[in-house]
Amino acid sequence: MRALLLSLAVAAPAFLTSCTNNVPSAPVDTAAPAPTYPTGSAAVNNERLIAADREPGSWLATGLNYHEDRFSRLDQVNDANVKQLGLAWYADIDTERGQESTPIIVDGVMYLTTAWSMVKAYDIRSGAKLWEYDPNVAKAKAADACCDVVNRGVAAWNGKIYLGALDGRLIALDGKTGKEVWSVQTTDTNLPYTITGVPRIVKGKVIIGNGGAEYRVRGYVTAYDAETGKEAWRWWTVPGDPSKPYEQPELAEAAKGWKGDNYWKIGGGGTAWDGMAYDPELDTIYVGTGNGNPWNQAIRSPGGGDNLFLSSIVALDPNTGKYKWHYQTTPGETWDYTAVQPLIIADLNYPEGKRRVVMQAPKNGFFYVLDAKTGELLSAEKFAPLTWATHVDMKTGRPVEIPEARYEITGKAVIVSPGALGMHNWHPMAFSPETGLVYIPVQVSAAPYVGPKEFKLNLQGTNTGTDFSGGQALCQQPGARCGNLETYILAWDPIAGKEKWRIKNEVYGSSGILATSGNLIFSGNHKGEFNAYNATTGEKLWTAPTQARVVAAPSTFLVDGQQQVAILVGARGLPNDQKRTNAISANNSRILVFKPGGAASLPAEMPAATAAARVKIDPPLLTANNETVFAGEQAYAANCASCHGPTAVPGAGSIAPDLRYSGLLPIRNGWNPTVRDGDRATRGMPGFAATLSQETTDAILAYVIKRANDEKAAQEAAAKPN
Ligand code: CA
Repeated sequence: MRALLLSLAVAAPAFLTSCTNNVPSAPVDTAAPAPTYPTGSAAVNNERLIAADREPGSWLATGLNYHEDRFSRLDQVNDANVKQLGLAWYADIDTERGQESTPIIVDGVMYLTTAWSMVKAYDIRSGAKLWEYDPNVAKAKAADACCDVVNRGVAAWNGKIYLGALDGRLIALDGKTGKEVWSVQTTDTNLPYTITGVPRIVKGKVIIGNGGAEYRVRGYVTAYDAETGKEAWRWWTVPGDPSKPYEQPELAEAAKGWKGDNYWKIGGGGTAWDGMAYDPELDTIYVGTGNGNPWNQAIRSPGGGDNLFLSSIVALDPNTGKYKWHYQTTPGETWDYTAVQPLIIADLNYPEGKRRVVMQAPKNGFFYVLDAKTGELLSAEKFAPLTWATHVDMKTGRPVEIPEARYEITGKAVIVSPGALGMHNWHPMAFSPETGLVYIPVQVSAAPYVGPKEFKLNLQGTNTGTDFSGGQALCQQPGARCGNLETYILAWDPIAGKEKWRIKNEVYGSSGILATSGNLIFSGNHKGEFNAYNATTGEKLWTAPTQARVVAAPSTFLVDGQQQVAILVGARGLPNDQKRTNAISANNSRILVFKPGGAASLPAEMPAATAAARVKIDPPLLTANNETVFAGEQAYAANCASCHGPTAVPGAGSIAPDLRYSGLLPIRNGWNPTVRDGDRATRGMPGFAATLSQETTDAILAYVIKRANDEKAAQEAAAKPN
């Protein structure tokens, strides 16, 4: 632990409640009758959340329980009989963006979110849609979303369902009807803040963070009264304008590790956009914080410094928002190495005795185990082949960096692993107290980093302070490893700090994971499958087609005494050789629910009538990764915007066509002759082969495809009857 040396920072003595059944490894009596509430009551309270593992008919919160281990005590479906699982029902989702939410199941209703922050509620017995809610996020907001217009789910509390919308609103809905009860704007709408994360609810307070640290924002988390939407507290992750009083005393201390004025003028970053977990015994909420804004530390904080509380796991008092302790995973972050990744609280049985711990596998590639009460670092081992540091010094708790990795200090381009997408991103991991293993969706990447020739604040797009195309030449050298290299499910022993085994994905891409007491783990993939594996050995035991890429994590629950498993599918593009089968979603987005003996099947092909109905704008699906889109955005801004318009939208002064409608978008073999070789030079479009690499022009294509999809979504929304 490296708690700040402040009197107020001394952790309060653990507040031991009388609730003793929240011990994460406690066995559950699945035969015990679940509390019954009328359908749609959404009657979640603190007692139910503390005992979430003992409610076999529910999946009460995004990570299942307060400690977010995503380990279901259900064992009716198990390693001996999982082959009997079949499709029970499915429902088409009417968007074709990434679907990232874990369905929650409360009082007979399944609640999930889709892209564009829409909420759907289904009867868990029949699959009938009960209601849907669209917050009507302005489609222009897509330009502020680094990584698609996604949403990772809702929370339930005392009759209401809570949604964080992309445009920064926190919205409470009636659990029975989907009607809005209240809505508050949690962000400054003049700034490119977004929300994609799940609200967490602790004892009547809704806690929500936000994203935007690729742009120009300052991170914070806020707690609101669940009944009224009134703000209860806010905790800022990084210091602001030093001429004003610090909002929290620990920020004055943190500010000593920040240099210059850029950070607070640009925002500084540290956005808490995903991972949180709550320990009711210690009455502590743990929050993961994001990368620096801009990434490049020499621009953000010239002269260095730790830049607290970037890339940190922070322990807060959920009643007041008061700081308890922190652990910073990547001091002086400069590679987009967030520590917002999912957090799991667990009891680990060390040879010396049991420890209550917080675990995280953040982007930087080290797996951290911290004492939940004190923040003491118990271990930090590499879970993936990172190259920016050799190890973590257990005396200081600090990573021992490889000096060449700091491109902003050396001034030289360097390939670093992982790249900005990290060794593990938001895709949920799971922990089984029965196998003692953490199951991590690992993604291995490497990317060139180099600072820009000159940094100019971009008010309309990303501010990473790096030059994405500048290091590409390094990747062309023989033997260079760049890009997205491989993905696998890693079974990790958190006590030994070692890999047990891995399941390699045939197609690159990460998907969330569920572990169960049936000695199973469930996960989708990007080949178009939903699979079950033996949780002890990794042996593949069952598979079902999804007709879509899968990024979300599954949930499981009993329906009338029968165990079922649900997974939301749909992500960028379609699996190879997969045809469209969903009339209202080009990437076959759906909720799929499986049960023993389920005999439903997915449709074979899209109805012909839909195939004939063409919308005016018809871009291909975006298949490029976020790094490529970022690179394309930067290169577009520098090379294309002056003629084709900023953000690929022609303005009054634009002299060239709207590229979002270009017939060349689906044809890389047509794009490059025009963009690189000057095939249309006589019509005013010069070739850029002399100044831009093919990687760069491909990245620009990816960015334009993204912007075309943004526009397509906007048009479809406008055409939709209210
Ligand atoms: Ca980031």
